Amino acid sequence: MKIVMLGAPGAGKGTQAKKIAAKYGIPHISTGDIFRANLKAQTELGMKAKEYMDKGLLVPDSLTLELIMDRFKNDDCKNGYVLDGFPRTIPQAEALTEALKNNNDSLDYAIDVDVPDDFIIDRMAGRRACLDCGGTFHVVFNAPKQEGICDLCGGKLVLRNDDKPETVKLRLNVYHEQTQPLIDYYKGQKLLKSVDGTKNVDEVFDSILQILA
Ligand code: AMP
Repeated sequence: MKIVMLGAPGAGKGTQAKKIAAKYGIPHISTGDIFRANLKAQTELGMKAKEYMDKGLLVPDSLTLELIMDRFKNDDCKNGYVLDGFPRTIPQAEALTEALKNNNDSLDYAIDVDVPDDFIIDRMAGRRACLDCGGTFHVVFNAPKQEGICDLCGGKLVLRNDDKPETVKLRLNVYHEQTQPLIDYYKGQKLLKSVDGTKNVDEVFDSILQILA
């Protein structure tokens, strides 16, 4: 099964993508996580990506495509994947369609986790991320067992630079300009399904399971 998760930054698509990946035994591929891992390891890719990420801008398509196409070569992608944060522009979506087509393959679903902007700004301010394992929590909606500590690996939880309110507003503008057009793109391909992302994590997941059933 090959799934693309759509939705604004902070809509909860990463949380849902992880749950789908666990349920169906397919990898969860987050370009944001891969960029952050590169940043932590101070690779050349990571240093280049940081310039854009810290400002809330998208990393250029050429860099992103190189990274993701390389990731698809991994053995674990044989039975599919759930993509989180990719594609984020029409050229990225077209490159993905084309790459799949070259293997006589195609996506199964594009799932849009729909959440209004004002909801997102409030949500992101409470988001806490583990810089060690990429785990994400929320101080109210998904609190870690121990404040400031990652349940998954014991790492320290922080408010990511790009989750700060000023940056979130900018990221939402970038989303509306560059990523939202993908909703029509996938509607045109008859792959689009929408779920109401303002509900709680389990309710959103139930709606997704009904789509995938
Ligand atoms: P995320 O964790 O998905 O919110 O991604 C964090 C940041 O990584 C974004 O704000 C972008 O700067 C960068 N990024 C992640 N995925 C992409 C992508 N597909 N295209 C361009 N930039 C991306």
